[in-house]
This record gives sequence, C-alpha cells and structure tokens, in this order.
Amino acid sequence: MTEPTIFDLSSPGRTGVTFPKPDVPHFDLPDESLLRDDLPLPEVAEVDVVRHYMALSKYNYSVDGGFYPLGSCTMKYNPKINEDTCRLPGFLFTHPLQPIETVQGNLLLMYQMQEWLKEISGFAAVTLQPAAGAHGEFCGVLMMRAYHKARGDDKRIKMLIPDAAHGTNPASAGMLGMTVKVIPSDARGNVDLDALRAECDDTVVGMMLTNPNTLGLFDENIEEVVKLVRNCGGLMYGDGANLNALLGIVRPGDLGFDVMHFNLHKTFAVPHGGGGPGSGPVGVSERLADFLPAPLVGILEDGEEDIPPLYGFVTPKHSIGRMKSFHGHFGGGLVRAYTYIAMHGPDGLRDISNYAVLNANYLAARLRGTFKIPFDRICMHEFVMEGRVEGSDVRALDISKRLMDYNFHPPTNYFPLIVREALMIEPTETENKDTLDRFADALIKIAGEAKADPDLVKTAPHTTPFGRMDEVRAARELVLCCWLPEGYDSEQ
Ligand SMILES: *Cc1c(COP(=O)(O)O)cnc(C)c1O
Repeated sequence: MTEPTIFDLSSPGRTGVTFPKPDVPHFDLPDESLLRDDLPLPEVAEVDVVRHYMALSKYNYSVDGGFYPLGSCTMKYNPKINEDTCRLPGFLFTHPLQPIETVQGNLLLMYQMQEWLKEISGFAAVTLQPAAGAHGEFCGVLMMRAYHKARGDDKRIKMLIPDAAHGTNPASAGMLGMTVKVIPSDARGNVDLDALRAECDDTVVGMMLTNPNTLGLFDENIEEVVKLVRNCGGLMYGDGANLNALLGIVRPGDLGFDVMHFNLHKTFAVPHGGGGPGSGPVGVSERLADFLPAPLVGILEDGEEDIPPLYGFVTPKHSIGRMKSFHGHFGGGLVRAYTYIAMHGPDGLRDISNYAVLNANYLAARLRGTFKIPFDRICMHEFVMEGRVEGSDVRALDISKRLMDYNFHPPTNYFPLIVREALMIEPTETENKDTLDRFADALIKIAGEAKADPDLVKTAPHTTPFGRMDEVRAARELVLCCWLPEGYDSEQ
C-alpha cells in the first residue's frame, strides 16, 4: 500500500485557497494567446495536500525517528532549543542588507561565532561564509593557491590526498585544475610516510588530510606528516568533518594545519540530509589570514564602559573575494550552532567528543567477534568493518538493507574505498547504551541469518513501504522527469 501521487489525488474543481472579493481596481487578463492553459497542476484541497505530504514524510527515516549511524556524516540528535533560537523574531525578520546599526545583535553573534571557532580549532581567523564542507574545501584550496601565487611561486600544481579521503577532497583540488596525487595508507591505517616523502617536492600546493581519517583512526605520525609537507613548502588542509572526535581535546591549528573547514551541520548539530541548510566555516593560520573571503565580521569602533562596540564588515588585505551572497547561512546554520556551543560550554564540548569516542569503541568491541575490522586499533568517533560473514555470500549492501527491517538506518556503505565491503559506523554521543546494544544485537542476528537463510538478507528490506530497488535497472533506464499527465507531450 503506497501513497498515490498528488496528481492521482487531483479532482477537477477542487481548490486549496479561495480569495476574497478584490478591494482594488479590476484589470482584464492579458491577451489569451500569452496565457498557458495546459499547466498540469493538481487540483486538491488544503487537507489533501497536508495528508499527502504527511504520509510521504512517514516514509522518511530521520534522526528524530531512530538511530542513524551513518559514518562520516555525524548524524547526531539536533536539540530542539536550537529551533527556538533560530526562530527568534530578532533573527528571523532581519535582512542582510539592513544598515549595520540595526542588526548589531546578529553581527555580535557572528563575531562571537568566529571567536569560538578560533578557540575550538586553534586557528588565527575564521570565515563563516561557505555553505557546506565541500564549499569550505573549495574556499580553502583557493586560499592555498592565492598564498603561493602571492609569493610569486607559480609552479605548484600538486595536491597530495590520502587514499582514505572523502571524494570531495580530490574534487575540490581538481576543480581548481590541480593534479591530485593519491598517497596510500600503511598497514595501521596511517598515511604511508615513505610514499608521502616520495611525492614531496617544490610542485606541492599542499596536502588535504582528514584526521582522524575516514577509518576513524587518528594518524599516529601526524607531526611527521605535517613536517614533510611543510619542508617542501606545502600547506596543510584539514578536512574538519571528523571534528566530533576532537572537541576540547586536540586543536588542529596546534597540530600545524593551515586551513580547515568545519561542518556545523555535523559537529555542531545543525540538521542536515534534507533537514536544513549546511554551513562550512573555514579557519586559517596566520599565514592564510589575509586571503580569507570577504566580508568578515569585525569591530569597527571599540566600545567603552556602558557602550558596546560597533560591529560591521571588514575585508582582509588579499581577500580571495566572496564565497557566497551575503554572509553564509545565518539563521539555519550559525544561530543553531551558536546555541549548541553556548549550551554545552567548554567542558560540555569535551564531553561530546569523549562520549562519541567511547560509543564507537563500545560498538566496535561488541561487533569485533562477528565482523572483521581490518584496521583494528582503538578508534576515534567511528570505525569501519567488513560487511561480510564467513560461509555466506551476503554483501555489505544486503546487511544494510536488512538493518532497515530492524528499524535502523544503515551505516555508510562501501566507503572508504580501501576496505572491502566497507560498513562505516558512527554512533555519535547522543545515543545511550540500550540503543547501541539493540543495534549490535541486530547486526549479530543478521550475521546469523546470513548463514541460516541468506535469501532473507539478500531480498531485504521486507518491512518498508518499498522493497529492494533494482539499482542496475534504475541506472540503465533513467527516468529523470516528473510524472506527466495523460496526453502531455514531454517534447513540448
Ligand atoms: C561530509 C564530509 C565532507 C563534505 O562535507 P559537506 O558538508 O557534505 O559538503 C568532506 N569530508 C568528509 C570526511 C565528510 O565526511
């Protein structure tokens, strides 16, 4: 039983809105030939629309509905107080083009946010503009390029990226015309130092490194890695998507990184994955501070006793320009993340990472006997195991689909690429032990099913509104257009 499309619900003459008699002068419609009469809009009442979308929303799995261990994505619970603050009228009903004197509260919040992110990460300056992590990467790589160019050093074209990296890293470097050199991981899941050393020369723009990496492992040689890249004149880019493991414990700026993006929609509990806009502020060391995108929020006039300072916009000396219209995602991203940081405070932030790491290690300990964890050492906030079972031909994808029957969102599948049948699991700090145990129990049970009744697993899910998709057919026979009403000519 599935919900019909809104077009199937359509009935001629039904309408959602009726307008009162106009109290303004009446104008005739323009020439009929200018008007379309074939717009295939459904005719439905308001209640039909509400019930339809309500029904569709129940097909969705969400972090408000259940456990969502999607590795690398940090799908933590989003506290509802963040929704209250970002809807405060003083934030909601302001416009980015208002005179700064009328939005000092907003500017203070943005200034404070820059300061807090500097403190948390150990960087010298922060921009709030980028709209997501990948956008922050692009912004960071633009600054790295500008830095080298400003020194008259224009032979640097090579970006070093480990094989465990998220695909956005090579994409960001590639979009700027750089040559990506893949650095393999060693047997312990660290950057292979010999391979790195072999690539370090005077054509290196820098290195893009996620630490802890996407295996959930903190690179044991991080200081050596930074030194090698530095010594050949390169800059270190930190992919901050895994910051949930480090809050209040390690500061990437202190480790020697020059630039890093934050994913406010991961680490700082801004809803994502269809729930809200992303936000990817970028922090930089002194070396890159002059290249930050404009504008930043700064203090234009110092305050005095009883008189607050005047906040406004400032432009760094060698700014790469704007990354985005206006000032980033203010309400949806910044106000929510600000609230989250304020509610936790320094000790609370450290607790977040401690519990995130504890939860991941607890789950790994429960699953170690059933599934193979290839780079098996103490993990950070996530770990990667092989979705295979001895004596069965079920694959990671089958296990993930079967998890849906137990009402869990599947982990990240087939990433990172260096683990066979990868299942990447990130429980986050917001889950309690009961939930972690239920999840581990389900996976252990599925491993049993994989041997006793493999077809049950391979044809899962069985309890969702839609069953297993034919992914090959979906890719081969693409239908990219929406539903079309009968008689409607798609060639028009
Ligand atoms: C999520 C993620 C990104 C990209 O961030 P978006 O906000 O989704 O653009 C980059 N690197 C890693 C490791 C990630 O997990």
